[in-house]
Amino acid sequence: MSAQLEQKVLDTLKTIKDPAKDVDIVTAGMVIGLQSKDGHIAFTIDIADPARAKEFEPIRKAAEDAVHAMDGVLSVTAVLTAERPAQPQQQAPGVAPQDQALMPGVKSIVAVSSGKGGVGKSTTSVNLALALAAKGLSVGLLDADIYGPSIPRMLGITGQPVSHDGKTLEPMENHGIKCMSIGFLVEEDTAMIWRGPMVMGALEQLMRDVNWGELDVLVVDMPPGTGDVQLTMAQKVPLTGSVIVSTPQDIALLDTRKGLNMFRKVEIPVFGIVENMSYFSCPHCGERTDVFSHGGARETAEAQGADFLGEIPLDIKIRETSDGGHPIVTSHPDSEHAKAYAGIADKVWAKVEDQLGDSQGPKIVFD
Ligand code: ADP
Repeated sequence: MSAQLEQKVLDTLKTIKDPAKDVDIVTAGMVIGLQSKDGHIAFTIDIADPARAKEFEPIRKAAEDAVHAMDGVLSVTAVLTAERPAQPQQQAPGVAPQDQALMPGVKSIVAVSSGKGGVGKSTTSVNLALALAAKGLSVGLLDADIYGPSIPRMLGITGQPVSHDGKTLEPMENHGIKCMSIGFLVEEDTAMIWRGPMVMGALEQLMRDVNWGELDVLVVDMPPGTGDVQLTMAQKVPLTGSVIVSTPQDIALLDTRKGLNMFRKVEIPVFGIVENMSYFSCPHCGERTDVFSHGGARETAEAQGADFLGEIPLDIKIRETSDGGHPIVTSHPDSEHAKAYAGIADKVWAKVEDQLGDSQGPKIVFD
């Protein structure tokens, strides 16, 4: 970014004070990771102590507003953190250290993506992760959906992650899986208009600065869509493979095909397609109704040379359980829906093992 603009932003931020110390946030060294591109500004305010988050929210907002009022500034994103963000946030956009082991204990990473929002991508991510854990695997779930991080709510996790050593964050845990969410860094209802470099900085932080420990598989809930942000993530996150979630009515549209093509473009194996809200399962009589022309995902998958991983019905129990923090795989493990997720997990894990082969697993690098 131009040093001149950087200086102007810092000058503006010098008008914002830390209420407890009577010193401005720049002088106090709290403003870090300042980035600017084409009039879009992003920075982080390091509050050191997570307990001050509430007190600092109005200050974050005031800082954002002050910079937004500057000439030539189109958008501003200010994020509070109690952790110093990874160095790469301060590097040139898109530049990441070569050959750096991000998560040395993580054997495989599976992305769950969708051509658009609202198709049940997060619901599928959560239940797939839990079904993998039910197989006895050690599982993590990374919520990278910058447009609507809903995984903490679906896993029934509240509060903020803590750090024991002041450097790495402990993942949150519930229902036997570890979880980290971009939602812990920002308010759930904050409109995420981050540009690629900042998304990547935050994502890298969520991978590298989190104490994931040993995991057989990390499931990543991707942002919906097939735009630049998704493409960058698919390129930068060392994915073992991807699962695409689609509803029957979207299969007819080109979204799913675009998703398939996006992953193929960056040479990431597509493990297959899950058809969600495949048919309607009546809560009263259990009767099955094919509301949309059911089975399209299987046909699309076959036509595109991708595998069909399974179908999940539209059932209020799936919505109530996941939105209530008790996903169906753990709250009703004997239900037919839990079994359907288990079937998908079996297929996904077989494909992961295929990819890993006899090797020691992929060298997880950020390149
Ligand atoms: P996305 O991540 O694609 O935006 P979500 O997983 O957040 O979608 O799902 C959107 C809404 O639809 C949520 O309220 C969720 O509980 C509900 N939902 C998802 N899948 C199903 C299903 N198979 N049956 C009933 N409700 C579902």
